[in-house]
Amino acid sequence: MGTLPLRGVEAAERPFAVVDLHVDLVYRHLYKGQPFASGLGEFRAAALEGVGVVGVVLPLFVPEWASPIGARRQDYEGAYAAAYERILETPPYALPGCGVHQAGAARSRPVQTWFAFEGAAHLEPKTEELASWILRGVRSFGLVHTKHNALGSSSGSSPGSRPGLTPKGREVVEKIQGLGGLVDVSHASDAATDEILDRAAESRSIVIATHSNARALAAHPRNLTDAQIRAIGRSGGVIGVNFHQPFLSGSGRASLKDVVAQVLHIRRVAGVEHVAIGSDFEGGIRPVPELADASRYQALAAALLEAGLTRREVSLVMGENALRVLCGPFFSRRGDDRNGPP
Ligand SMILES: [Zn+2]
Repeated sequence: MGTLPLRGVEAAERPFAVVDLHVDLVYRHLYKGQPFASGLGEFRAAALEGVGVVGVVLPLFVPEWASPIGARRQDYEGAYAAAYERILETPPYALPGCGVHQAGAARSRPVQTWFAFEGAAHLEPKTEELASWILRGVRSFGLVHTKHNALGSSSGSSPGSRPGLTPKGREVVEKIQGLGGLVDVSHASDAATDEILDRAAESRSIVIATHSNARALAAHPRNLTDAQIRAIGRSGGVIGVNFHQPFLSGSGRASLKDVVAQVLHIRRVAGVEHVAIGSDFEGGIRPVPELADASRYQALAAALLEAGLTRREVSLVMGENALRVLCGPFFSRRGDDRNGPP
């Protein structure tokens, strides 16, 4: 396919609004000692407004080594308090939530934030505890990280005899969805992912994968099968395409072309309404060279236009789909079928 420079120029002049479903800035700052405003340089606060970023999901990830007995509830409380304070003192970030514009701020705060859990073994399936996290801006709940835990099994450990979800994991999922939270299957094992998707089909809850790719193009256990991608789409959810090279192509080396191929594949399998961006910036990834940092999002938009997506489709992928699930009507329950898909 030939290049279409005019479209590229248009994209550069009027940036597409970008919402990134997974940026590990809180981890980078709290546990790796980098400034919150710049991280490693992959997600610099000062660069965001100029490149169209309007929203970002910031995981409250607490590493296991945070305490000798693993991450505890108090560690998450500490991460929450620190992240809240950093957001408050770092324009252009707005406080977590949908449509929050900070009253009294000296500068406008056009970059919306949401918190997420990546590993949630500290959660008890108590309504009041889960509701309080949701009210404090935790929008997405990933049950596991790279190891099995008390809630379920991870794609990062060998399956062994581990089931998908544990009884406590099932209870937590049900409560989160009942309260309008989103369950994130990135990092979950196939068994856990399939169980979450089966249950979501019954409860009509939206399921998301914040930072995962298609296994059909890159055979990695962190990636999703086509059946899982289809089921996430049917739930009304989205898949955030990850920029980490080993998750993008079978060879472990990847370029912008592979990111475009992932978008096209997920669009073909689930529909364009179910593709989003979950770069995994600041999470220790090896991003494709053309998307080395947040200043490059519009290069992806231009490449998608060149690959044949309409401006409307590019707009959905870059941000609108993510916003729909993060801030859609009635939170994560799907709308009545009579109104069509959300
Ligand atoms: Zn992750």
